[in-house]
Amino acid sequence: MAEIIGKVLFTEEQIRQRAKELGEQIARDYEGEEIYLIGTLKGGIVWMADIMKAIPNDTKIDFICASSYGSGTSTTGVVKIKKDVEADLFNKNVIIIEDIVDTGTTLKFIKSYLAERNPKSVKICTLLDKPSRRLCDVQADYIGFEIDNLFVVGYGLDYDQKYRNLPYVGYIEG
Ligand code: 5GP
Repeated sequence: MAEIIGKVLFTEEQIRQRAKELGEQIARDYEGEEIYLIGTLKGGIVWMADIMKAIPNDTKIDFICASSYGSGTSTTGVVKIKKDVEADLFNKNVIIIEDIVDTGTTLKFIKSYLAERNPKSVKICTLLDKPSRRLCDVQADYIGFEIDNLFVVGYGLDYDQKYRNLPYVGYIEG
């Protein structure tokens, strides 16, 4: 097991409990309907595993990988799709499962990119939200936890591709 990195913000138990609550909310919002969960690679996979187990509806899953280039503090940041969704999303209820919304650049792009497939609906479920950093008008519909402007790792989130396997969300002290 990897060593403790920085300070623990959310434990595995807290995250699983929050996933359970959001899963119940999603089940109420989509009663009797099938949902397509689209996980964002790579950071979203651990949260995706929790959320999909917490949703009792019929669900199908797929993944998308997008990277944002250019200045992270600029709204002109260019986003590129590195791995596309393979599923046909026409008339489907899509929920994008994301690790963290920071400036919102990546998610805004992914949401409009998937909306071009003419799904029935597109919503966003994120483990973490940093609203103070937002530069794009994108808002998650289901939020695990709001956090301050901290650099967090673990539970899928990396620093230089490391620490994704930490079973908690921690932050690195600057
Ligand atoms: P955005 O396009 O919203 O600015 O950036 C979203 C992406 O930036 C996330 O999917 C994640 O990969 C990365 N990111 C933003 N904040 C953090 C953070 O605090 N820790 C880590 N590990 N990645 C972050």
